[in-house]
Amino acid sequence: MNIRTSERIELVDITQEVKSEVHKSGIVNGICVVSTSHTTTAIILNENETGLRHDILDFLEKLIPLSAGYQHDRIDNNADAHLKAVMLGSSETIPVMGGGLVLGTWQHIFFVEMDGPRQRTVNITLVNQ
Ligand code: ZN
Repeated sequence: MNIRTSERIELVDITQEVKSEVHKSGIVNGICVVSTSHTTTAIILNENETGLRHDILDFLEKLIPLSAGYQHDRIDNNADAHLKAVMLGSSETIPVMGGGLVLGTWQHIFFVEMDGPRQRTVNITLVNQ
């Protein structure tokens, strides 16, 4: 699945797209792995609430500020994005039961862009039980 991000750092809710892939596949029970192949992006599960979305991005910026003397910035100027990606992780595994994703009421699947805007790819791997 392709995503065109529009900010340097942003959360993109991909829950509906993943649900639609699960539905199209016809899988009933198994697991769904949502992963990213990029080194400056991540996949997370959390609530899609406007304030919280800002809080998550502010938290990441506070924890790992831009251009804070990182060695990688000497060649690429995006060390903060790599470090944020290391912290968040590149995939989430979600159970599939009865043909649908097993997610909590408030859980959404987010693609986290940390060095955009760019064209990105999200991988959805389904394993039938
Ligand atoms: Zn880099």
